[in-house]
Amino acid sequence: MNSAPYVGRFAPSPSGPLHFGSLVAAVASWLDARAAGGRWLVRMEDLDRPRCEPGAADIILRQLEAYGLAWDGAVLVQSQRDDAYAEALDALKESGAAYPCACTRSQLAQAPRNREGEILYPGTCRNGLPAGAVARAWRVRVPDVNTRFHDRIHGDLQQNLAHEVGDFIVRRADGLFAYQLAVVVDDAFQGITHVVRGADLLWNTPRQIYLQTLLGLPTPSYAHVPLITNAAGQKLSKQTLAPALPGTGRSAVLAQALAALGHPPPAELADAEPAELLAWAAARWNIEKVPTRPAVANPAQAPDNLPDP
Ligand code: GLU
Repeated sequence: MNSAPYVGRFAPSPSGPLHFGSLVAAVASWLDARAAGGRWLVRMEDLDRPRCEPGAADIILRQLEAYGLAWDGAVLVQSQRDDAYAEALDALKESGAAYPCACTRSQLAQAPRNREGEILYPGTCRNGLPAGAVARAWRVRVPDVNTRFHDRIHGDLQQNLAHEVGDFIVRRADGLFAYQLAVVVDDAFQGITHVVRGADLLWNTPRQIYLQTLLGLPTPSYAHVPLITNAAGQKLSKQTLAPALPGTGRSAVLAQALAALGHPPPAELADAEPAELLAWAAARWNIEKVPTRPAVANPAQAPDNLPDP
């Protein structure tokens, strides 16, 4: 059990403006933090530079403000944290947990995939680089044991990293640090006690717990809120052309987000401002009411581009 005072966070990737799915994750983590009297931090996960869209980080912060999601303290920006990630990688290299990998994407094209569609690394470079091969990325060797964890929404879960993930990348061939490494370094740096995020990241959790163990970092408590899909059952994302959150009609959109989280506001609050809706929900927040299944975004939601400035 984590007895430290509650610190939660929302960690968007600025690859575009927030959409309804990211709003649901932000609202859930905000409510969980505020209901516990905790702090709520924002971290801009602009690690994958090529995927970041100029201006998106500012737009996201303005969207959070417009939807009443006030954060505490300064926003932590991952692109300014390379030294911290390098230090963590050095520790993994020194302990022998991380090893260099020379495999190219095309060499791994035939490798089996896990249930998330990710490559299950076959271990080619695990015991040393093949003769003449040049190191490209760094991987962490994983044990053939079940990593058990508790999710506050999904209950007790386990994953065998060796069978279901394989040795995973902590520094990419393009020199960028991998999300898995950055997220554990930053969650610890920011003193995060509770992670509440989208269910698309549920099966990343055992990798993160394993890295925390290797690096001697605390493991926060985890909760994964339902994914929001479009009518075709696809996760809302930039790739599936999810519309940005509308700048008008915010209260109705927020009410839909609360409904997706199992906390539909009463009709009397139909005209309430976002801050009032959030206060209503924070006063009754019960994570046991959050459904485990994905929810379909209301197709009537206005695909009305950017928020009001
Ligand atoms: N940056 C990740 C995303 O936008 C979220 C990371 C996390 O919450 O751990 O999907």
